[in-house]
Amino acid sequence: MAFELNEKILKLSPYDPICGDYAIRLDANESYITPNEELTGKIKEAAVGAAFNRYPDPLAAELCRAFAGFYGVDYNFVTAFNGSDESISVIMNAFLQKGDRVLTLTPDFSMYKFYSGIVECECLSVEKNKDFTFDTDKIIKTANENKVRLIIFSNPCNPTSVGCKAEEIRRLINGVGALVVLDEAYMDFWNESLIKEFNDYDNLIILRTLSKAFGMAALRLGFCVANQALTNAVRSVKSPYNVNAVSQNIGKLILSEKDYLKDCIEKIIKSRNALYSGMKKLEKDFGGGIYTVAPDTNFVYTEFDKSCRIFEYLKKNGIIVRHFGSYLRITAGSDYENGKVLSKIREYLKSEV
Ligand SMILES: *Cc1c(COP(=O)(O)O)cnc(C)c1O
Repeated sequence: MAFELNEKILKLSPYDPICGDYAIRLDANESYITPNEELTGKIKEAAVGAAFNRYPDPLAAELCRAFAGFYGVDYNFVTAFNGSDESISVIMNAFLQKGDRVLTLTPDFSMYKFYSGIVECECLSVEKNKDFTFDTDKIIKTANENKVRLIIFSNPCNPTSVGCKAEEIRRLINGVGALVVLDEAYMDFWNESLIKEFNDYDNLIILRTLSKAFGMAALRLGFCVANQALTNAVRSVKSPYNVNAVSQNIGKLILSEKDYLKDCIEKIIKSRNALYSGMKKLEKDFGGGIYTVAPDTNFVYTEFDKSCRIFEYLKKNGIIVRHFGSYLRITAGSDYENGKVLSKIREYLKSEV
């Protein structure tokens, strides 16, 4: 008898990250900053300090304390994950059953739909407004009418770069019976977090990550912050040793380097502003057919009439960005990288005139 894949797996298509060798990578919203020599020395020490023959602390208590210390929350309500991607998968597994309905927004992070598919849930979606804000009443209505069990979205949003004010998010959480999973992966670049209010709701889980502002994507560290009942539930379904000892040690170290982290955030916002101004200048110089959204993240989102051709031209020149329909999403890089991507786009647009 031949082995056959089940139906749900046949419906999935694997995540398609951009591979290949590019001199300039502005495709994954990573930080362009790498630790200096002094910090690298400390990182090495932290890595070597792991007890390699032992399983790591299942609750990553010291790491969670360092995270809680940075954000000013109680560490008992913080759970560490092997990237926030893992937390999304674990939360969906824990809080959803086959046939439940999930609600997300369009456009938003593609992994939400992917993970809801694995748990065999129907994923509904509310289309955002033209300016990428969203209609809170419409979301509340759609969620309640369809008895949605879980609502998940990013704020500020990947890929649109647009943030939503805390007041609107509060209204949404209060208006629905569903669990709201608020993905604040880019909130370090903005100032509308609900992280300090996690205990005010019985239906809120906040997700954070060290992969973006803090430049530690390689460690795979993500965090959930939620009230006691939700934290207990999340901890009871995660795999016991999900965060390895090396990542726990280095993560704890990095989260204690508050000045370094604040400096990183400042530099990245400066770089993002420079990239945004550069894009706005292109818009002015070349007239219609280009539009960049005002960003609240570490990347910009630009509509181009010729998005495909510009994407290919950049790629040919060793620069990789993300392409979504008529939009390009470009991560803020070093001065050199920003300069390069802007000048290559300009070069292309000139050649077309
Ligand atoms: C990058 C990203 C993540 C993934 O973060 P990891 O901690 O690296 O898994 C989650 N959500 C959004 C919206 C992201 O853009």
